[in-house]
Amino acid sequence: MTSIAHDAACIFCKIIKGEIPSFKLIETQHSFSFLDIQPTAENHILIIPKYHGGKLHNIPDEFLADLLPVTKKLVKAIGCDQDGPDGPGYNILQNNGRIAHQEVDHVHFHLIPKKTKESGLIVGWPAQETDFAKLGQLHQELLAKLET
Ligand code: 5GP
Ligand code: ZN
Repeated sequence: MTSIAHDAACIFCKIIKGEIPSFKLIETQHSFSFLDIQPTAENHILIIPKYHGGKLHNIPDEFLADLLPVTKKLVKAIGCDQDGPDGPGYNILQNNGRIAHQEVDHVHFHLIPKKTKESGLIVGWPAQETDFAKLGQLHQELLAKLET
């Protein structure tokens, strides 16, 4: 089993250890989930690996593999599991780095119900015009990197 990385100064590591109280929901061998203390909507939940790492690429696969099944259970628990495009929705958000709006440097997934335009996640999406030539070039460059 992978050793569990811990940072004594990290607020989310303290929550996992119970040194700081939280409104805990599901806990597994690899994950811990709890209510966000400053929710953007009712039932805004954080799901975190029980492994200290600042960004997604720092987290071992076995911890990452546990996070989405836990998230799925929570989606059902908060009644956001209606099928089809209409009705209540939800966003899964995972920020990496200050410029990407990360404030707590322990990887966390936000589960954010989206029931109204005003609550939950509000997204800016600076989409560019489709440029197939540029995309084709980029695709070749990425495939070359993935091969190495
Ligand atoms: P980020 O901007 O890093 O993606 O999100 C950090 C989240 O952690 C914020 O939504 C914030 O409300 C939440 N948060 C920060 N400190 C605490 C805490 O001590 N307890 C809980 N439950 N949530 C926290
Ligand atoms: Zn931590």
